[in-house]
Amino acid sequence: MYADIIVDIVHGEVDKLFEYSIGKLNVKPGHRVLVPFGKRVIEGIVMRLKNDTNFESKQVKSIISILEETPALTDETLSLADFVTNNYYVTKASALRLFLPSEMRKGKVREQFKKIILLKRPELVDEAISSLRKTAFKQKEFLCYLLDNTRVDYTKACKDFGASAVNSVLEKGVCEMILEKISRSPYKSDNFVKKNITLTQKQNDAIKSVNTTEKLVSLIYGVTGSGKTEIYLELIEQAINKGKTAIMLVPEISLTPQMLRQLRGRFGDSAAILHSGLSAGERFDEWWRLRTGEAKIAIGARSAIFAPLSNIGIIIIDEEHDASYQSESSPRYVTKEVAIRRAEYFGAKIVLGSATPSLESFKLAKDGVYNIITLPDRINKKPLPEVEIVDMRKEVRRGNNTPFSASLRLEIEKCLSQGKQAILFLNQRGYSKSIVCTECGHVFKCESCDVSLTYHKEEDSLLCHYCGAKYKMVSGCTNCGSPYIKYGGFGTEKVVLELKKLFPNSRILRMDRDTTQNKEGHFKILNNFSAKKADILVGTQMIAKGHDFPDVTLVGILDADMSLHFSDYRSSERTFQLLTQVAGRCGRSEYAGKVVMQTYSPEHSVLLQAVNYDYEGLFEREISIRSATGFPPFTNIVRVLVSSKDEETTLEITKAIYQELSVLYNENKDKFRFFGCMKAPILKLQGNFRYQILMRIEKNEKKLLDTIFAISNKYNNRNSGVFLEINPVNLT
Ligand code: ADP
Ligand code: ZN
Ligand code: ZN
Repeated sequence: MYADIIVDIVHGEVDKLFEYSIGKLNVKPGHRVLVPFGKRVIEGIVMRLKNDTNFESKQVKSIISILEETPALTDETLSLADFVTNNYYVTKASALRLFLPSEMRKGKVREQFKKIILLKRPELVDEAISSLRKTAFKQKEFLCYLLDNTRVDYTKACKDFGASAVNSVLEKGVCEMILEKISRSPYKSDNFVKKNITLTQKQNDAIKSVNTTEKLVSLIYGVTGSGKTEIYLELIEQAINKGKTAIMLVPEISLTPQMLRQLRGRFGDSAAILHSGLSAGERFDEWWRLRTGEAKIAIGARSAIFAPLSNIGIIIIDEEHDASYQSESSPRYVTKEVAIRRAEYFGAKIVLGSATPSLESFKLAKDGVYNIITLPDRINKKPLPEVEIVDMRKEVRRGNNTPFSASLRLEIEKCLSQGKQAILFLNQRGYSKSIVCTECGHVFKCESCDVSLTYHKEEDSLLCHYCGAKYKMVSGCTNCGSPYIKYGGFGTEKVVLELKKLFPNSRILRMDRDTTQNKEGHFKILNNFSAKKADILVGTQMIAKGHDFPDVTLVGILDADMSLHFSDYRSSERTFQLLTQVAGRCGRSEYAGKVVMQTYSPEHSVLLQAVNYDYEGLFEREISIRSATGFPPFTNIVRVLVSSKDEETTLEITKAIYQELSVLYNENKDKFRFFGCMKAPILKLQGNFRYQILMRIEKNEKKLLDTIFAISNKYNNRNSGVFLEINPVNLT
């Protein structure tokens, strides 16, 4: 027998199946194996078995060994890997990597065992004791201890009684040593909750609708706090009761502990968590618990869609509109598309949930492709929080240069005096957004990127938020020598410092990428806030979504305009979604909520719609604009991005690709809505110059996309990267 194998090297030249003989090994498809490759030994994955080889059988090399007894991939995940390869234009090896915890490759992490001593023959203990030499009192003590405990940790026993005593006793045959697998389970310290909730009629109707619809996808369009999470939990329970499994996706890693807590409260160890914040060992163990069926529910952010589950009954994507569901680096997969593919395979249901669905999903629901379920009210008809717009231009005119308007300050005071909690949202970390010389106007920029640097006060350094580079803070202008530099814009760090000045007695927590770098950082901050160990939580988008803190009665949006003026066709949609999400964090329990939204463009239609929670108004306007201008969801935006260390080379390659694509364009003018070639909005990133070719192409033109990929991919080489992006989340 022979096996077709993909070797674990992500390179176009070896992006094909290699044949190996399986010899006497019990190889199955999906097995990870070691194979000889050139002069090396590397890992590979068995794609399929076959009886014959295309080569002279003597020339075919043999598989060296099987890495794990259970094949890491199943028939379903193997075929899903093909789907990823064909649809997202990546090598087979990099598609396969999506399905494995990264540490598993190259054996960087293994199962962990502990040694346990078990008392096997209690009736022989007395005899063993009497045969001991008089001086062997440690052995005697250990034997007595064993009699009382019957099961003892070997390492601990050695510490308590001495290794030589323990080993001598082991030789006597009254006890034996076994290896027990340790499961490195994350968030063990947490106490899990099961809320005692009777579902409302609306919630029950929603569940029934998901179960009875013929349609693969149900979209739950429900305002924040309408009880969507409880619906998900019930649907998962029903799937588990039917002997099936479930995937539950949330948009942010920071939301996984909260969801895990609810799932563990209901399903105990059946729930496993997959995310990049876990330690290598934890991720490895959780992954295997899912693969072997010991755990039945996978929870995580985007990448958990590749969870090694079989027999999936339901896939839930919470906050489905969230940009994080689309991968921004290769493989650039779209989570929803992968979910659909998996659900079709298992006959599973997909549930998308959001208070502000993506325009695309809402349109599909309106067109009858998705089953739509509407929850217009919060649980118990609690009102949505009232939103007050504050015109920051007036504040500035009054001489207020702090991040807080008079109105917001008043509301914070009120909230604190009532013993309630507040959330302040600002999507900018660090102290100041940029620093500028007041004499010559020089803006401090990253050496490798064409972007301004952010000042971080705690570290007293300048950081590039694109490449992570860190620079010493300057004492004056590096351009003209002037000592006068100005901090432009403010970030969360500054907000906290200013808050401390205004409310010296309040307890403040900050949650952003800087404060959540260690493993359970999110978890600790959220737990402390939830336990009311703080009064105010200041944070970036990490705090915007999903969290459910009953005592939060005030949300301050410090700069509502932040995403409004991006030159991205989605900026209105994104702004609306973000504002609605943040606003939804307050007034979720018995206390009414209030939102203060600070802006420099108080008359902007998107903000007015957000104030009135007018999603449908936003949808109607945006969808007609997109239709008229030919933007998604009516077309696909396709970008060919070229980058290299040298600007001239980059430009030349871009021009060459553009030439070739022009021929294609001239032959298919009816399928293109736009075709152009230009500098990327950020010309230089991480030392690479970037040019782009932008196209808007009619939907369902897979063949055309394949051709565009084939043309551009030819120019991919060691010195220059050429990437094809379809509807990229970020057009930087
Ligand atoms: P969403 O996910 O739509 O934002 P949640 O499911 O988090 O809403 O529900 C909002 C709040 O209402 C939560 O605190 C939740 O525990 C509570 N809740 C949900 N369903 C019910 C119910 N049937 N009865 C009482 N409280 C409920
Ligand atoms: Zn200067
Ligand atoms: Zn940089």
